[in-house]
Order: sequence, then structure tokens, then C-alpha cells
Amino acid sequence: MIRDITCIACPVGCEIRVEDTENGYLITGYTCARGKEYALQEVTDPRRILTTTIAVEGGVLPVLPVKTDRAIPKDMIFKCMEEINRIKIKAPISIGDIILENIFNTGANIVATRNIPSKK
Ligand code: SF4
Repeated sequence: MIRDITCIACPVGCEIRVEDTENGYLITGYTCARGKEYALQEVTDPRRILTTTIAVEGGVLPVLPVKTDRAIPKDMIFKCMEEINRIKIKAPISIGDIILENIFNTGANIVATRNIPSKK
């Protein structure tokens, strides 16, 4: 298996190649340790920050933008989205409020990324 990956650990965007050899993964093209680590994780345990919105009741806006406070396994994203889509929260909400704690034991919380005051 050979995978070519664009490193997103910084804006430089190095092109990294990961080859699965009988002696383990051969990683080339990175220019720093972060890139090597990113590429290895991308082939063994890919993770992403989830960003989405949650419906709000009684707020000045109908939806609240939220995100996970750490990257979660890529294959958990759909399941987490389904759970988030079931929720409706009441305003007021403050930026940084934890909306869901440790979603599906990923260790990540779903947090508010803006303030939503109550409707007057
Ligand atoms: S390998 Fe290092 S320098 Fe290159 S994009 Fe990744 S983090 Fe940036």
C-alpha cells in the first residue's frame, strides 16, 4: 500500500508518502517530526475536528455553531453527527459552553463556538 498525503499540520502543505512495507511504514517527504507523526496517524488512526450546528430554542439565532474540542476518529463522525442532530438546546448559550460531554467516549466534548443570547 502506498498513500500520498498532503500534510495539514501547518500551512506549508508538504506532500508525504507512506508506504506499507514488510519492515513497517516507510514515510518520506515530510520536513519535520510533526509531519511524520501526522502522516502515520492518518494511515493508522485518522482523526478530524467535527464542526456542525445544533438547533436552538428561544435564542436570537435558530442554530448554534459547535465543534469538538479535540480531533475524533474519522469513522465516528457520522455517528456523532446523528447524535448532535437529535439535540435542541435552550438559549442563552455562551462561547465555550460544553453542550455534550465526552461524546461516545471519544474524550472529546462538543462545545459552543459563539454566544447566543435569549430572544427578548
Ligand atoms: S511536514 Fe512539517 S513543515 Fe511540512 S506541512 Fe507538515 S508540519 Fe508543516
